[in-house]
Amino acid sequence: MTDHSQPGFSAHHTPIPIRQVEGREWWLWGFAVAVTLVLTCGILSLTFPGFHLPGDDFRSQTLKEWVRGLAALVLLFDIYTVYQHLQLQRIRRRLAERERLFHLITENAADMIAVVDRQGNRLYNSPAYKKILGYNLEELASTSSFEQVHPDDRARVLQVAQKAYFTSGGESLEYRIRHKDGSWRVLESTSSAIPGPNGKADGLVIVSRDITERKRAEALLDHRAFHDGLTNLPNRALFLDRLQRAIAVSQRHREFKFGVLFIDIDKFKVFNDSLGHAAGDDLLIQIARRLTTCIRSADTFARGTDNSQSTAGDNTLARPGGDEFVVLAPELRDPSDAIRMSERLQQRLAIPFAVKGCEIVITASIGIVFSGSSSADAEDVLRDAEIAMYRAKHAGKARCEVFDNAMQADAVKRLQLETDLRKALEYDEFRVHYQPLVSLQDTRIVGFEALTRWQRPQGIVMPGEFISVADETGLILPMNRQLLREACQQIRRWQSLFPSDPPLYMSVNVTAKQFAQPDLDSQIKEILEQTGMDPSWVDLEITENIAMGDAERSAIVLSELKALGVRLSIDDFGTGYSSLSRLQRFPVDTLKIDRSFIAGMDSDPETHEIVRIIVILAHNLGLKVVAEGIENREQMEMLKHFGCELGQGYLFSRPVAADMVVQLLASQHAAREGLDQGSTVPHSFPR
Ligand code: C2E
Ligand code: MG
Ligand code: MG
Repeated sequence: MTDHSQPGFSAHHTPIPIRQVEGREWWLWGFAVAVTLVLTCGILSLTFPGFHLPGDDFRSQTLKEWVRGLAALVLLFDIYTVYQHLQLQRIRRRLAERERLFHLITENAADMIAVVDRQGNRLYNSPAYKKILGYNLEELASTSSFEQVHPDDRARVLQVAQKAYFTSGGESLEYRIRHKDGSWRVLESTSSAIPGPNGKADGLVIVSRDITERKRAEALLDHRAFHDGLTNLPNRALFLDRLQRAIAVSQRHREFKFGVLFIDIDKFKVFNDSLGHAAGDDLLIQIARRLTTCIRSADTFARGTDNSQSTAGDNTLARPGGDEFVVLAPELRDPSDAIRMSERLQQRLAIPFAVKGCEIVITASIGIVFSGSSSADAEDVLRDAEIAMYRAKHAGKARCEVFDNAMQADAVKRLQLETDLRKALEYDEFRVHYQPLVSLQDTRIVGFEALTRWQRPQGIVMPGEFISVADETGLILPMNRQLLREACQQIRRWQSLFPSDPPLYMSVNVTAKQFAQPDLDSQIKEILEQTGMDPSWVDLEITENIAMGDAERSAIVLSELKALGVRLSIDDFGTGYSSLSRLQRFPVDTLKIDRSFIAGMDSDPETHEIVRIIVILAHNLGLKVVAEGIENREQMEMLKHFGCELGQGYLFSRPVAADMVVQLLASQHAAREGLDQGSTVPHSFPR
């Protein structure tokens, strides 16, 4: 395409010199009118009354008449001509005015205005072209607008231009055009046809606007809507979209398989809380980077030698939120590929990170869903991967689990349990049972452990089935506040009914969630005050796992609790970290040996020895020892022999309701009297 600039639209637009033209015209017309007037006057003079042609009077008279008529006609013609000329001038002035206006608009408009002929040649380009696209008018004249359009957009541009010729235009179009500096600009153009004399369009007026910045802003907003601000990874919405596509492909092509990996950083909260949020963010960014490089190399790894089937794109890593990352790995052959990939990710994550000058070592739990094993809905697949991840966490963290339907059934059951627990609290379905704590020396009841029971219409539910869920959901907090209040009221009643020296005490359990409450001490203090309970006769049991989890913090919390004046016990000792040296730093009074040791003590010499050593070491630390789960006399005798002070178990009594406790204490009272006459106490406990 070549451009032919026409005078009216030439690069140097000089407005038409209208006055000059008009001046010349006036001369011309003036001259013509003067000549005709002179002629007319001449003719008329012939007809003046004093003028006589010699000869025939009649003929001269007729001629005079004719000449006079002719003169009148010429005069009329002159008047008409002058009138027409004035009209023409008016029209021309109006046109000139319009052109001036056109120039004013086009030369100053921020939008680019172009006029092209039917062949697409440029007839006019407004100065905005230089400002926006960098070309000066000469350069524009020597280049073709079509050539500057992005090759991918040319067909569309041509199509809309063709359409504009037939429909007189008005349709707007977005396309890319090359700037003089080589970059691409996005234009929004509207073209309108210029109607020609034969009714057909002669050319087009194209008004274009540079929308590059707007497009960039829109793209940025779009990006933001689908990416995570911290790591710049795709977010949950974009991930779900890609996952849904992968599901659709797998439904169409049976051979196409994919895996979804749900990655959760173990104990991320601990890093976040101890290092601060900025460092936590830094860690997340580093994790994202490491995972990205790892899944990129995993792309080729997963496909192995067969590169031909790459139909669904590369692995996608996304961050749905918090310390969670998800991977969509298309084209895996079977679940073992996904497991291998998980293991690689875990190995990479195990390499220490440097955050704030500290070396941080993390582990991750990964849940895997393999295509076909879950629903056809992306949300469901992601949820199943999360369920599998939780399973991995519960199984001890730093591992991966592949989702199966049993997991889903478990998750549904758990959800139901959560709902039921909420209702149970509302309908007051929890009961407190009390299990005696017995002095092994003389089998006297010295205290009780308060244990929750869930009284459902279909029967009693044991704590093993609901305490952990209640703890995770936080329901344990109101539950155990109620339990502590009730237990305090009971023990006060029993203390006064059955006075002893020292008085009976009450032991209550503290869960992880409770232990994590920053105001646990003041909550307990409040209940003690409300119930008028002397703190000396309250024992708080904290399991070994909770206490050893974050030893630094535990030491602080335990000191705060100790400051209330209560006793402290380490529950289920032997099942966790079992560090006696760490115990030294905690202000605890009692060690409760887990019942698994007591159960194995009489049959397994090694366990027997362990229990003996625990008792010795605990005594060395100045702690009293309670043996849990004593079920027979042999166990009781052995423990007594080791010097274990207290025992708890079915041999003495199962946990019982409050009214049974009164009977127990009463029968003990009677038995003590009987003991004086030689009977043995354990038999006096109701079974
Ligand atoms: P735990 O604190 O170690 O409580 C002792 C558990 O051992 C009780 O189980 C008790 O019934 C059982 N037990 C006692 N003697 C024997 C025995 O001779 N043989 C056998 N096989 N078991 C015996 P329970 O009541 O089912 O409670 C289980 C756990 O649930 C408790 O372990 C405690 O950690 C938790 N728990 C129960 N109620 C509450 C509660 O109200 N609050 C909190 N935070 N935890 C509770
Ligand atoms: Mg306990
Ligand atoms: Mg225990």
